[in-house]
Amino acid sequence: LGDVYKRQSTIKAYVNIIYGCDKFCTYCIVPYTRGKQRSRRHQDILKEVNELKDEGYQEVTLLGQNVNAYGKDLDDNYGMEDLLEDVAKTGIPRIRFVTSHPWDFTDRMIEVIAKYPNIMKSVHLPVQSGSSRILKLMGRRYTKEEYISLFDKLRKIPNMHISTDIIVGFPGETEEDFEETMDIVRKVRYDSAFTFIYSKRTGTPAAIMGDQIPEDVVKDRFNRLLHEVQTISAEQ
Ligand code: SF4
Repeated sequence: LGDVYKRQSTIKAYVNIIYGCDKFCTYCIVPYTRGKQRSRRHQDILKEVNELKDEGYQEVTLLGQNVNAYGKDLDDNYGMEDLLEDVAKTGIPRIRFVTSHPWDFTDRMIEVIAKYPNIMKSVHLPVQSGSSRILKLMGRRYTKEEYISLFDKLRKIPNMHISTDIIVGFPGETEEDFEETMDIVRKVRYDSAFTFIYSKRTGTPAAIMGDQIPEDVVKDRFNRLLHEVQTISAEQ
């Protein structure tokens, strides 16, 4: 993807910083298909960003399945906070990064985002569900309350735009669980949200969980959620 974009645009470029993922969310096939997380050396990433800047690129997006885990598989005590700061210091006009797992988001990362004007105030922060019970079944490693606390810290940064991903109909999701999702959506008021109907991925733990939700129930919940997120995004 990165190379394709680099060729198609002379303004924006994608820069891979980490491949694979170690999180093993129970619905996700990525750790099985793309393997364990492998971070690129920061020297190579910074060299690439500097070259892009010299070629006249205006914007880089640091790319990975979970960019916030950057560096955790290396031994150089250099994490996403350090990388973001060093990329900001290259002076390239605009920096984005995607995707962030909430569990790996640190306070220092938030400070770095706030400090540098060339880091765009835009974070994609997938919540997936508002129910702590479902989040546990998903293996997401945070509760609803922990997520909201992180969200609030990010929201304090002026002009911050926050988007999310939400899955409806995960196995075992009750009407009460779904209402928790509606509740978090109303509380935090996302600027934009991508909503998905849960779909089974063969080989993942969730695919063999009991209590798969009937299609008509999922569709009804999905439509209610979609209406809510669209209304809020339009207001935002
Ligand atoms: Fe990793 Fe994201 Fe898949 Fe979870 S959903 S296993 S964080 S790629």
